[in-house]
Amino acid sequence: MTQTQTEPKVWDVAVVGAGMAGMATALFAAEQGLSVLQIGNGGGLLFASGLLDLLAVHPIASRRLWGSPFDALAAIRRDQPDHPLARVDDATMRAAYESFTSALGAAGLAYAPLDDRNHLVLTSLGTAKPTYGVPRTMAAGVAAMAERVPCLLLDFRGLREFSARQIVATVGDTWPGLRSARIEFPGAEASSELYAAHLARALESHETRDKTIALVKPLLGDARAVGFPAVLGLGCSGVVHAAFQAALGVPVFEIPTMPTSVPGLRLMDALEHAVVARGVHRLLRGNVTSAAFDDTAVLSLGGVPGGETVSARAVVLATGRFTGRGLVAGQQRITEPVLGLPVQQPASRETWHSRDFLDPAGHEVNRAGLRTDSVFRPFDATGRPAWPGLFAVGSILAGQDWMREKCGAGIALGTARVAVDQIVRQLGAR
Ligand SMILES: Cc1cc2nc3c(=O)[nH]c(=O)nc-3n(C[C@H](O)[C@H](O)[C@H](O)COP(=O)(O)OP(=O)(O)OC[C@H]3O[C@@H](n4cnc5c(N)ncnc54)[C@H](O)[C@@H]3O)c2cc1C
Repeated sequence: MTQTQTEPKVWDVAVVGAGMAGMATALFAAEQGLSVLQIGNGGGLLFASGLLDLLAVHPIASRRLWGSPFDALAAIRRDQPDHPLARVDDATMRAAYESFTSALGAAGLAYAPLDDRNHLVLTSLGTAKPTYGVPRTMAAGVAAMAERVPCLLLDFRGLREFSARQIVATVGDTWPGLRSARIEFPGAEASSELYAAHLARALESHETRDKTIALVKPLLGDARAVGFPAVLGLGCSGVVHAAFQAALGVPVFEIPTMPTSVPGLRLMDALEHAVVARGVHRLLRGNVTSAAFDDTAVLSLGGVPGGETVSARAVVLATGRFTGRGLVAGQQRITEPVLGLPVQQPASRETWHSRDFLDPAGHEVNRAGLRTDSVFRPFDATGRPAWPGLFAVGSILAGQDWMREKCGAGIALGTARVAVDQIVRQLGAR
C-alpha cells in the first residue's frame, strides 16, 4: 500500500462519486495511506445543511426522537438488523465522525465538540432539527433555544427564503424572549434581491462587517444571543463569526438557510480541500460507465476526452440514490446503472409510494437500494458479494430512509469507514 504523488498504474482504491459518502471514503482511505482515485463531482453536497446527522428518528412510523444517537443505534441493531447502520459499531462510528470533523476543522470548517448527544438546531422554517455534528458557527443557537434565552433574530431586506419574523411567528409562542429585526445589507441598499453566497463573501471584508455590526448594536436591547441567516463568511466563517461575537458581546449563531446554502458550499469546499491535501487524485469531469473485474477492477470512464480506463484493487460505489443517479427509476423497475447490480425494491410500482403522501411510515421506494454483506460488499444476482474488492456506501444502500431517520451523514460516514477498514485488511493481506 503506497501513497504516491504520481499516478500509480493500479490505484489501491477507486471511489465512484463525490457526495458525502464518496468524500468520506476518499478521506478515510487516504488517511490510511492508500492511493486513491476519486471520480465524479460533488453536486449533492451543495444541498447539504452543514449539519452532520447520525441517527435521530427511529422507528419512522412513530417518529420517536432520540436524545443519544448511540442509544438510537442500539435500538436499530435490535429492531432492523438489515439496516446499514446496524452494521456499524459504536467505536467505528465515533472514529468516523472524529476523523471527518477534525479534517473539516483543519480545512477551516470547525465543528462543536461531539458529545454523544443529538442537538436541536433552529431552522429557517422555525422548526427544531435534531442533529449530531453542529458547525461551530451554529452551536450557540443550540444553547439559546434549549434555555429559551432572550434572543434577537436578524435578517436582511431582500434575502430570499429567510424571514426572521416568520421564525419568531412559528416558534415565539414557546420562546417568549425571541424577537426579530430586519436590516439593510451594507452596500446593497439599492438591490431588491440578495443571495446568501454574495452576502457571505461580502462579510469577509472588514468594512462590510463593521458596517453590519454597527447596524445591529442599537437593536440588541436585552438580547443574550443573536441569530443570523447562515451568511457569516464563506471560506473563513470561523473568523467572521468570531468577529461578530466579539463586537456584539453576546453569543452569535447562524441559522441554516434553504438549499443551495452557504453551509453546503463551505462543506463542499472544505472536503475538497481535505481530500486533495491528503493526496487524493480527483477526476471531476469523469463518470464511470461500466467496469470489468478480474484480479483488479478496470473502470471505463465517460466525460473525459477520448475516453479512458483506470484500474484499482478496490472499488467503492458511492453514487447515491435517485438524485445522485446511483439508482434509476424506470417505468417498472429500479436499476443500478453502472454495474447492473440487483436492487432491492418493492414488488411492483404500485407499492413504491404510500397512498398518503404524508404517511408517517414513509414510502417503500425510499428504502430501495443495494443489499450487501456486513462490510458493505454488494450482492450479485446469486446473493453473494459481486467481487471481493467491490463495496457500496452511502445512500445507495437498501433498508434505510436517511431523510426521515435523520441519518444522512451517519450512513455516509459509518458505511465509508467500515468499507475502508475492510479494504485496508484485504490489501494488507495481499
Ligand atoms: C436537500 C439535502 C439536505 C441535506 N441535509 C442534510 C442534513 O441536514 N444532515 C445530514 O447529515 N446530511 C444532509 N444531507 C446530505 C446527505 O447526508 C447526503 O446527501 C446523503 O447521505 C447522500 O449522500 P451520498 O454521497 O450517498 O449520495 P449523493 O450525495 O447523491 O452523491 C452521489 C455522487 O455520485 C456521483 N455519481 C453518480 N453516478 C456516478 C457515476 N457513474 N460516475 C461518477 N460519479 C457518479 C454524483 O455525481 C454524486 O457526486 C442533505 C442532502 C440533501 C440533498
